[in-house]
Amino acid sequence: MLDCYDVMEVVLEYTNFKDLWSLAQTDKALQLMIRRFFRTRVDRQIAMFLKPKSPPVEQLETLLYKFWERITLSHSAVHGSLLLYMERCVRAAKPWVPGNLNIAVPFGAVRPWIRYFSDESAGTLKYREVEVDSFVLWHIASRWELEIIPGKFIIITETRGPCVAEAVIVSPHTANMQLLTRDFLIMYYPQKAFDESALDSWHYPTIPASQDLDRRGVRKSIDNSSWVTQCGWACPILWRRVSKDRGTLIFRVGDDTAVLDRTITCSHLKWRLGDTCYNSECKNYATHYYPYIPGYFSALGAELRSTLRDQ
Ligand SMILES: [Zn+2]
Repeated sequence: MLDCYDVMEVVLEYTNFKDLWSLAQTDKALQLMIRRFFRTRVDRQIAMFLKPKSPPVEQLETLLYKFWERITLSHSAVHGSLLLYMERCVRAAKPWVPGNLNIAVPFGAVRPWIRYFSDESAGTLKYREVEVDSFVLWHIASRWELEIIPGKFIIITETRGPCVAEAVIVSPHTANMQLLTRDFLIMYYPQKAFDESALDSWHYPTIPASQDLDRRGVRKSIDNSSWVTQCGWACPILWRRVSKDRGTLIFRVGDDTAVLDRTITCSHLKWRLGDTCYNSECKNYATHYYPYIPGYFSALGAELRSTLRDQ
């Protein structure tokens, strides 16, 4: 016989993330239920990567416990298509599953992860070339991958500094600009995620990557000229900061007493999506700034930043 949670779980499976988040704001009991539902959904997907051949339940619980413990101890976070999957309605019209388990780790934290996967008999992570792109190279120190079954990879991205958000701000579009720790989901462009849409960043996605987004039901645009409402915090010319940024949504999915990891709240990190706003509804419409070249803006310093109109 179904209990209340079982019934609610079925309802939640038909609910998109925007509505889940809204529901979580209305009532504490509902919020706890949504957290539990979200965690179960995440763990189910992560288990597919840790042990693709369905081990016994007790073994799976231990595996997941160790995985999240490693995430916390190494100040790392999950990102990539798995989070996109989490934000969609499970019963969506076009079903798909995440192709990779992406993990962002701070500089110097790769070795413990290599040991972890080796100890778990998953295999050995292999070095993978980082894209030759100055913006990416500025933020990413190395990439490592492990093919667990044909076509499915665990990918570790090591950032150049202590802040794991560096791994996602280099994404070619906003749909991947989010992180998941054991206790928090952090979304840098929540409104775009809620609308199941995405805006291209500095280096456009490849054609296969764009097709992937389309297949996953995310509407992507190369600029914001077609937007019909104000940009808000998704305005491409706005400098965004990881620390204390009002445009970021932080959704607690774990322990009530947990605090955000220091590798998420690094105060030094800032980025923006482009140098021109093409949205005629936005007060920054047609404002144009110099192209963003890593290091260039820090040299110009406060002068350019002071010209930025905050919204
Ligand atoms: Zn704008």
